[in-house]
Amino acid sequence: MRTCIYCGESNKKFCKAHILPRSLGKFQNQPTLLEKVCAECDTEIGKSEDQFTHNGFAALLRPLLGLSLDKKRSPFRRRFAGQGPIEMQTEYLGLEDVLFEPDGIGDAILPPTMPLPQLHFIYANGENKRIRIQPETLTSEDILKIIRNNMPKQIIAYGLNDDELERIWDICRQAGISISEEIPIRLSSTQSVIPIKVKGRFTCDQRFFQAIAKIAFHYYLGMNLEYCYHNGSESIFNPLRQFIRYGKGNPELFVTQKNGYFVDDFLNGWRPQFYGHLFVLDLCNKNIIVKVQFFVGPNINLPYYEVLLCENPFIINIQPRKTGHNYSYIEPNKRKQYAGTIHKLGVNNFIILPNKTQSI
Ligand SMILES: [Zn+2]
Repeated sequence: MRTCIYCGESNKKFCKAHILPRSLGKFQNQPTLLEKVCAECDTEIGKSEDQFTHNGFAALLRPLLGLSLDKKRSPFRRRFAGQGPIEMQTEYLGLEDVLFEPDGIGDAILPPTMPLPQLHFIYANGENKRIRIQPETLTSEDILKIIRNNMPKQIIAYGLNDDELERIWDICRQAGISISEEIPIRLSSTQSVIPIKVKGRFTCDQRFFQAIAKIAFHYYLGMNLEYCYHNGSESIFNPLRQFIRYGKGNPELFVTQKNGYFVDDFLNGWRPQFYGHLFVLDLCNKNIIVKVQFFVGPNINLPYYEVLLCENPFIINIQPRKTGHNYSYIEPNKRKQYAGTIHKLGVNNFIILPNKTQSI
């Protein structure tokens, strides 16, 4: 009889649980977990994924990989999953820092950027202040209030269309303040690759790590390994399931963020050609560990995560080994139905350290 691995109930509607959140794209030949997770638990767990995909580095990289173009749901413009808008600044062609959002037509090498609607107030002593605005919801009185409260010497506006700029310009004139024209900071089409410096800041809470733990756990269950098989309902995974489903327990017990390059786990020279996510099941140290690195690509290395699924699962007769997959995106303009494909990584891809193999 089917039983949900999270709530333990059978008398429910079940669903096809995905390993990677659908918001990261549909991958060809991706295994799903059939009849393991009930629809209610899947929805609850999905709320953590919302934060993961809309509120972290995924929010920056999704548009570049052609996975999101929806300005209304842009986490750079509005709160998302209980967190504030993401602050991302770039020093653009020698100008001061401008708050921006990716504009969604990237080539996955350089983030082409669009400035967010914002006003820079410049004071007589040279100091300046940046205020993000939502012109479509601001009345003239609101704008005048913002300007009066700040009383700058000069204002530079970014990210506004002609009408919005004209409106603010009028209000400024009435208030006796000079305003600069918006400086165009779009790249010209002949200069497709210009390195830009980006400073970013986002906040997350525990749900961010619950989502990572869930992705790693479902990845392992979806592998259906002959030599190390679990169906997910075993008691050894109880602490992990409680963390993923109900947020119980200290995230640090399950998910460790690591700096450095996960790709160092791989043999010399192996690197993904295009952007993708790497998953590695590491059975070299008695525990079941899944390492996950999202958005590994030619130019970006983000921190990776080690997820401890369980300690000492009493697996005997198991050779120390690593196995894994690369969820590789296809270039946006070459896609048809799928965002990408999955490649299996074999033992030849990995470095297995001798000291770890001795410990088993
Ligand atoms: Zn359930």
